[in-house]
Order: sequence, then C-alpha cells, then structure tokens
Amino acid sequence: MKTNNILLHTCCAPCLVYVHEKLDEMNVSFDTYFYNPNIHPIKEHAKRLSTLRDYTSMYNLSLIENDEFLQEKWENGFKCEDCYKIRLDKAAQYAKLNDYKAFSTTLLVSIYQNHDLIINICNELEIKYDIEFMYHDFREGYRKGQNKARELGLYRQKYCGCINSYNSSNFKEKINWD
Ligand code: SF4
Repeated sequence: MKTNNILLHTCCAPCLVYVHEKLDEMNVSFDTYFYNPNIHPIKEHAKRLSTLRDYTSMYNLSLIENDEFLQEKWENGFKCEDCYKIRLDKAAQYAKLNDYKAFSTTLLVSIYQNHDLIINICNELEIKYDIEFMYHDFREGYRKGQNKARELGLYRQKYCGCINSYNSSNFKEKINWD
C-alpha cells in the first residue's frame, strides 16, 4: 500500500518522468499540480500543459490544472526568486486547503534551477501554511529522466519558461508548437 499522499507541483512532463519513477520506488503516492504562469508565450504554455496531460493519462496519474497565464509580471521585472515563489506558494496553499500530507516540486530534479533557493522558499512555505515540504534531491536522475522523456517522444522545451528566457534562447528556431 502506498503512503504519504503529496501534492507535486509539476513544471512539465520531462521533469516529472524521473520524479515519478523515484516516488514510485519510495512508495509515495502523489497528485500532480500544474501551476506555471511563467511559461510564455501562450502557445508554449499550452504545449507544455498538453504534453503533461498526455504523460499523466499514459500513466493514469491525477493532474490538477491551474492554467493561469501571467506574462506582464515577468515583463515588469520578475526574477527567478519571484517565479519560484508565486508557483510554490500556490501549490503549498492548495495542498493545505485540500488536506494533503505534504507538498513538493519537480523543480528539484533540474540541474539548471537554483536548488538551494527552491529549498529555502519551500521551507518558508512549510511554516506559512503549516504543511510539510517533502524534500528529495531528484537531480541524481535528471539525465535518466530526460533520456526517457526523449524515448517516449515527449515535447522537450528549449528554454526555461518566461518571456525573458525565451528572448535569450539560442534555440528559438527549434521550437515546435504544432
Ligand atoms: S528563467 Fe526560469 S525560473 Fe527564472 S524567471 Fe524565467 S521561467 Fe522562472
């Protein structure tokens, strides 16, 4: 029997792949929670969400969607810290209101995100909402997860998410929004 139902803030399907595998191995049950208003432009937001829908239905995982799209905040100077905070705050709040045992995030699998900053923010949210933050350093499986995502044919984004990261991406021409 699985234990510890957690709400897993999920940034995208490719990052979920290894976290899903690891949580299964740890016998931890979870619901995925998509809240990423940082993903711009809207076509990219829709693409990442639809890829996540495909993945979760493939594995019969539950997906809770909040499809709010906010580009103005990032255009007006939102930084990575604000970006983590707005997403993780919403996840922690939702977890508390809906009686989850804990919350966590797939952002912890990425070798490109500021891991320590994410931990600090989650520790603060743990106190703010009186809900446990489930920490694991999923970066151990980053490459494995990305390789599996490639094998599954999942859409793998070419930039972090916000309009600023899109504008500075060297791979814009490779983006496939079909
Ligand atoms: S680079 Fe990534 S983490 Fe930083 S603000 Fe943009 S989307 Fe958010």
